[in-house]
Amino acid sequence: MLMILTRRGLLEAAWRRWGNHRGCYRRVCIVCGIVFYAGRPQATYCRAACRQRAYRRRQKVRR
Ligand SMILES: [Zn+2]
Repeated sequence: MLMILTRRGLLEAAWRRWGNHRGCYRRVCIVCGIVFYAGRPQATYCRAACRQRAYRRRQKVRR
């Protein structure tokens, strides 16, 4: 029997079954490009580190 123990595993299983729905959205990180599952449709980063990286990049571009 397959046991899904991680939160990510649970979200992925839910997404495979029902697709995008309330509380589970499949997103692609705009910084590193990996697929992740988020509870909110607005999520654009897979983790805090990526958000910070994008933020720093924005700061650099602005003058
Ligand atoms: Zn990322």
